[in-house]
Amino acid sequence: MVYLDNNATTPIDPRVAEKVGSFIRGNFGNPSSLYPLGREVKSLITEAREEVAAALGARRQEIIFTSSGTEADNLAILGLIETQPEKREFITSSIEHPAVQKTARYLEGHGYTVYYLPVDQDGIINLDFLKSVISSNTVLVSVMLANNEIGTIQPVEEVVKIAHHYGVPVHTDAVQALGKIDVKVDSLGVDLLSLSAHKVYGPKGTGALYVRKGLDLKPVMHGGHQEFGLRPGTENTAGIVGFGEACRILIEQWKKDRDRIEKLAYRLKSGLEKKIKEIKFNGHPIKRIKSTLNFSFPGLAAEAILLALATAEIYVSTGSACSEGSGEISHVLLAMGLSPEEASSAIRFSVGRFNTEEDIEQALAEVPEIINGLRRTFAD
Ligand code: PLP
Repeated sequence: MVYLDNNATTPIDPRVAEKVGSFIRGNFGNPSSLYPLGREVKSLITEAREEVAAALGARRQEIIFTSSGTEADNLAILGLIETQPEKREFITSSIEHPAVQKTARYLEGHGYTVYYLPVDQDGIINLDFLKSVISSNTVLVSVMLANNEIGTIQPVEEVVKIAHHYGVPVHTDAVQALGKIDVKVDSLGVDLLSLSAHKVYGPKGTGALYVRKGLDLKPVMHGGHQEFGLRPGTENTAGIVGFGEACRILIEQWKKDRDRIEKLAYRLKSGLEKKIKEIKFNGHPIKRIKSTLNFSFPGLAAEAILLALATAEIYVSTGSACSEGSGEISHVLLAMGLSPEEASSAIRFSVGRFNTEEDIEQALAEVPEIINGLRRTFAD
């Protein structure tokens, strides 16, 4: 099989699997228990918190573990707006992951005015629009760092400069950025930042929210005192330990990984563009995660391509895993100005740590043939 859907999820790194396995076998204690069984687990969680914090250049007290990137996004937005209920305006981009986009829609349903920053044809947000709508009534700005469908990297530092001028905090969804570009909270200047373990070769069902020291945030669920009172519920201890290990490995090797992965992705991109006649690249030529390749294949339906590739055991995606199967056309591609036809013919290839040169050669041998075959079928 050739797995080219690393933006949907990554295979667990064997070192993470090993660590999680031995943790589960040896540690069943509740980290809130005061006797040694609990204490031991608590200290392993603290270690993991330090590892996640180190990957971001943050302090361990600034990391809140959650059940997912989605929960981290929800906690960031809903937890922050509760601290300033008198402010009723929220700003986000028009190309966010559903974890932020649907939360924005929820706020609209609760009387908030939400501004969606438009993007240009390459998928970069319009900062002038931000300047025109931000005000002292804005409670929060949330702009993703790297887009999951097209990989575009947003000018989050610029967003922070503009927002902080008005005293408005900034959240960024960095779920797709961690491990692919340098993600440091101080150079970005953000106040809140979301992560997910399963995008960085860690276990599924574990996320984290960075909360800058001194920022007021309220919990959105109510219960115990876990996670500094911000996320009640007995911790997903194995998931957290695995996330820590995944971050330890990232710190050690992400740059080496990146260089290798980018070369593979470049080879895939140029090979596909050479071998397939009608193919249109979607995304910014430079300001993007290079391992993410999004192409439209005019005249074909993305689902037909995806299924045909799957029969050859080549696994790709039509975009966001969350909207896959829903029949919805990508809001990201539509926001960039693609026609519904172009947008519904788009396929995302995403390369990761465990892809090899052979994977890319196999994809290059089979994908063009499959696409051309589908074109012949639909032309007949
Ligand atoms: N944000 C982005 C940009 C994502 O790509 C994803 C997952 O695809 C999420 C948030 C949600 O993360 P999780 O799957 O951990 O809920």
